[in-house]
Amino acid sequence: MSVNADNLRSAVRYALETTRATAVCPFHSDVMIRVGDDAAENHAYARARKITKSDGTMWEREVLMEEFKRLLADAADGECPRSAAHSAVIRRVIA
Ligand SMILES: [Zn+2]
Repeated sequence: MSVNADNLRSAVRYALETTRATAVCPFHSDVMIRVGDDAAENHAYARARKITKSDGTMWEREVLMEEFKRLLADAADGECPRSAAHSAVIRRVIA
């Protein structure tokens, strides 16, 4: 996936997804699932801290933390809430 580093949400989502702290449901691209892996979430945060915006600066710590909290709070816990039927598939994708 690509990242728009100048967009806070995009940058944080990129960090979360590329470290597998979250996964997008393969059937519902708007559903973000929190895997629940603390190490992955820490890794995601460290990655987001290194994302450089087009003006050469980086996101501030407080701003990043806020967006991480917001996205993780919005994410579904462990499986897609839209359909339990495909949760087994998701587990395989994120495993
Ligand atoms: Zn789904």
